[in-house]
Amino acid sequence: MRHIAVIGSGPAGYYTAEACQKQFGDAVRVDILDRLPVPFGLIRSGVAPDHQAIKGVSRRYEAVALTDNVRFVGNVMVGVDITVAELMELYDAVVLATGAPSDRPLALPGADLPGVIGSAAFVGWYNGHPDHAGLAPPLGGTDAVVIGNGNVALDVARILAKSRAEFSGSDIVSPALDALGGAGIRTITLLGRRGPAQIAMTPKELAELALLERAEPVVDPADLPSIAGDAELEPGLRKTLGHLRRFSAGRSGKPIAIRFAFFSQPVAIEGSARVERVIVERTRIDASGAAIGTGERHAVPASLVIACIGYRTPRIAGVPYDDAAGRFANEEGRILPRLYAVGWARRGPSGTIGTNRPDGFAIAEKIAADIPGDSGRVGRPGLDALLGERGIDVVTFRDWQQIDAAEVAARRGDAPREKFTSIPDMLGARTL
Ligand code: NAP
Repeated sequence: MRHIAVIGSGPAGYYTAEACQKQFGDAVRVDILDRLPVPFGLIRSGVAPDHQAIKGVSRRYEAVALTDNVRFVGNVMVGVDITVAELMELYDAVVLATGAPSDRPLALPGADLPGVIGSAAFVGWYNGHPDHAGLAPPLGGTDAVVIGNGNVALDVARILAKSRAEFSGSDIVSPALDALGGAGIRTITLLGRRGPAQIAMTPKELAELALLERAEPVVDPADLPSIAGDAELEPGLRKTLGHLRRFSAGRSGKPIAIRFAFFSQPVAIEGSARVERVIVERTRIDASGAAIGTGERHAVPASLVIACIGYRTPRIAGVPYDDAAGRFANEEGRILPRLYAVGWARRGPSGTIGTNRPDGFAIAEKIAADIPGDSGRVGRPGLDALLGERGIDVVTFRDWQQIDAAEVAARRGDAPREKFTSIPDMLGARTL
């Protein structure tokens, strides 16, 4: 028997558990620990609430969770309630699948002004993550600036732009829906420090911007490369540029503009008591594809700034960390003997949800190669005894099913659920 602890119940965690089941069959026990009482990590707290089809992948994780050799052990904070060293004593392998839930810092003068928010906080707020339920972003002004040209920036711009009716069928939490419903935003500027050819948005999601009820994407045709070069491009980028060209045809009169500002690098954020403007420097792209400042500057009005510039993995005491990369120090997933990292905690915040599947399978193979047989470690009963002694209120997958049922029962209209946004409310929803 191999005893494996996976820390984090997001996609990387569940794909690792699934891979360990396939690799070891009945000869494995996997405990998936999570600091929240609810599973699925980024699927619940990161994927946009109006992209329910993507969230459907959690049904696959549920199938893994409901097998006898995999357990969900929720409401346990590794590094606080139990250390990695203690887990290493109990389990043959410990796999850190803790994702990258912290914002990469925006290293700009004025970045600490009120009204400047990171995407982890903003996305966590509209998705009901307990860490961010109290965010109260300033939505009363007319000008939002979103920094970054990735899929998170795209999600954030779309969520800011949607009407209340367009959230029909989504699981956006009611406080965020109400706050966004009362927002007065008229311009959402997406700042890309590089150009249209370097955009990191998926074409399918980019195309959604043209379908919004009261908002329209706006692109300056002068920023776009000549169509003559399209034949040379890989198909995804060709599609992206096609969408951007359509967005450059001019405004049709919808009240909200989602303005793509390419070659625009933020250099400072200004305001007397709160954010009022972002100072932007025009860039050019050098031969290596990097953005080079031209010295030409202008101010973009901003009542709200949301930085969507990537994420970092929080440190855990005793685990080697790569500060420059913002993730655990590892060699293809190996951190120390019997200690592994997977998903964003291994490779940083890139790729789609599906990218974590091969990651999980690769780690299962490494565990098989590194830990050939039965070590006699105690596994589950040892964890239960330690957490019991410490009075930790562990949440099981059955408990989660009760929390889930309570959320579904509390849903508004055609929403799939109304999420609990506080840990006490989640814990209180258990019926036994
Ligand atoms: P990302 O794709 O890495 O994009 C980050 C963006 O921030 C880039 O445009 C980057 O520009 C810019 N940036 C970084 N530092 C900056 C700075 N100091 N100043 C100005 N701009 C800066 O990251 P993400 O959007 O956070 O997404 C994370 C991952 O989740 C990605 O793999 C993404 O595809 C995925 N995701 C997918 C979906 C979906 O499929 N629907 C939705 C959300 C997220 P440069 O390119 O110049 O570095």
